Amino acid sequence: MVLEKNIKNVVGQSMDIEIPLEKIKGIGEAFKKKLEKLKIFTLEDLLYHFPHRYEDLSQVVKISQVKVGEKVLIEGKIVEIKNLKSLKKKIFLTTALIKDDSGMIEAVWYNQPYLSKVLKKGQKHFFAGKVRRKAGKVFLSNPLFEKIDSKKEPLHTKRIVPIYPETKGVSSKWFRKIFYFLLKKQNLKIREILPSFLLRKEKLMERKRALLEIHFPTSLERAKLARERFSFEKIFLLQLKILSERKKLKKEKAFKIEIDKNLLLSFVKSLPFELTSAQKRVIVEILRDLKKETPMNRLLQGDTGSGKTVCAMAAILQVAKQNLQTVLMAPTEILAKQHFQTFWEFLRNFETKIGLLTRKEARVFGLFSSVKISKERMLKKIESGEIKILIGTHALLNEKISFKNLALIVLDEQHRFGVEQRAKLVRQSKQKEKGFIPHFLSMTATPIPRTLALAFYGDLDFSILNEMPKTKAEVETKIVLPREREKVYQFVREEIKKGKQAIVICPRIEEKEGKEEIKAVKKEFEKISKEIFPEFKCEMLHGRMSIKEKERIMKEMLERKIDILVSTSVVEVGIDLPKATIILIEGAESFGLAQLHQLRGRVGRREEKGFCFLFFEKFSEKAYKRLKALLESENGLELAEKDLKIRGPGEFLGQRQWGIPDVAMEALKNEELLKRAKERAKEILERDPELENYPLLKEKVEKMKEMVHLE
Ligand code: ADP
Ligand code: MG
Repeated sequence: MVLEKNIKNVVGQSMDIEIPLEKIKGIGEAFKKKLEKLKIFTLEDLLYHFPHRYEDLSQVVKISQVKVGEKVLIEGKIVEIKNLKSLKKKIFLTTALIKDDSGMIEAVWYNQPYLSKVLKKGQKHFFAGKVRRKAGKVFLSNPLFEKIDSKKEPLHTKRIVPIYPETKGVSSKWFRKIFYFLLKKQNLKIREILPSFLLRKEKLMERKRALLEIHFPTSLERAKLARERFSFEKIFLLQLKILSERKKLKKEKAFKIEIDKNLLLSFVKSLPFELTSAQKRVIVEILRDLKKETPMNRLLQGDTGSGKTVCAMAAILQVAKQNLQTVLMAPTEILAKQHFQTFWEFLRNFETKIGLLTRKEARVFGLFSSVKISKERMLKKIESGEIKILIGTHALLNEKISFKNLALIVLDEQHRFGVEQRAKLVRQSKQKEKGFIPHFLSMTATPIPRTLALAFYGDLDFSILNEMPKTKAEVETKIVLPREREKVYQFVREEIKKGKQAIVICPRIEEKEGKEEIKAVKKEFEKISKEIFPEFKCEMLHGRMSIKEKERIMKEMLERKIDILVSTSVVEVGIDLPKATIILIEGAESFGLAQLHQLRGRVGRREEKGFCFLFFEKFSEKAYKRLKALLESENGLELAEKDLKIRGPGEFLGQRQWGIPDVAMEALKNEELLKRAKERAKEILERDPELENYPLLKEKVEKMKEMVHLE
């Protein structure tokens, strides 16, 4: 293996397993690409590619003892081997008669005629496969085989066999071979990164030992302990990173916003509705932070329609009235425009200058309506401090804007969070009054389970709007059985005739590489627009469309020019579409509960009651039971927690959406472990804030990317 030699060369030179794979010549461009699909970029990533399960094939079973339906390991000699061609079914069969000292059994392989050349009469092998029965005959189906070699231990059989997440061209077999080479043959040195006192106190397995137990378990229990060690490691590093960033932040100075109580009261009084008590509580939580000299770093979570905007607005008004600036960023231009309008409506009696700045245009509000101004003028107004509240898209981040005194950054519908991101934003916010950094408020409708919130935020930096305004129309949710489909379509037809709009969400596609997803949307769009609702105006929306195209469609949706919108779930439909009252979700079983809850939250705003129909792609009793939780709960957070429990962390919200590794997710499910890791991280940082005594740990923490991405 060329690869083997090259790994040896590279590893021989340095002891660092963080070397990128491209340094290893044997892994060519093609292989690198394949491994990248599994998020393997470095030798360390490779070693940290853990099996998702094991098959215990450590015990040899006598042929006379095999049972139908079981997966067994047999040690036997080939007595006879031959190829058979079944003309009728166009398949090749290779059959071998295998014998041990207790009896004989037939092994059958399908469409692998070359096997009769590889396997020879008289050879001794391990055979691992499922025992089946057909036409009264018991046989071993498609068994994996491995030659018995006294000098080499078996890799794929006669052991606790690890099964790895695979990708095209990179099989579990490949992983087993490479790990055997690295960890056993090459005996790769792997430095411990956790302090030894920690290993002792937490009873954790040493790093190299744990890697061995993961890839070559001596028992399933040991493999589990090894996994736990890595869960702890990941979470511990994450906590070190978060805590030390937080410490840094505590040393920074922010604008201290004195709260004007009268202003707050008159704002609340001026609103066209009564605030919910959750909103009142959240406003107090935010204002309390703004009063401090250190910058706020707060996450506000609340379901769609829970009224996050007005909470932010209460804080923004206080900032503006102290002659300081705020920037509010939304994910799309339409949403930014909607905010611009709302802010003006709600704040027009408070005489604050509000500006809108997007890729396309810059606007300010005059007395009655908004007027377009040049971007240059807008930038000047921002720099001079005239604009107190700047509203725009997330793209504002990339523009070179200098503020006079930016005191608060609000990010709306931001599905990404982490200290890194915040630091970037703050760095980018150039302003004249040096030495102060802005407060930071991030808002999301994505429910975040408690453990996750705890991992990323302190208890005090996390606000939840757990109460819906009473005016929020309810959404009737229905699980649609296959035979009821027509009835639902008929209902949709009638509602559209009454002036309502419908959104059709396509099934979630696991391997999201773009093409497959687009194909699915196109197919659904064809079906909806040509077969089912040819009389209506339909449009489609997906992530691969240009921003311009997306904006056009959302605009037409808003103007009620479109009857039915067929869309992927990833596309932001977060804007207020008052006439869209029906949402049909295809392949609902492929979504997480929390995500479904969010999707249904997109209809039924204002006075109109909403309807959410959940369709199956593949009906199953189990999926039906899971989806029923949606009929029982209106609480996004509760549903998220439920999902986390039912489906496990890997599948929660869809694996691809999390930027953190599986083992870390496992730990996040484990509140106990999380608490311990947090405590230990605190302990170490108290004693050694710069981690000077732990250079390896320090290096790891610095390199760590702790971003979590939610969708
Ligand atoms: P989200 O949390 O999804 O961002 P918004 O802030 O957009 O929700 O609020 C949704 C709608 O509910 C808006 O039209 C807003 O004016 C309205 N709203 C907010 N709070 C209340 C309340 N306490 N009572 C009635 N309506 C409210
Ligand atoms: Mg919102």
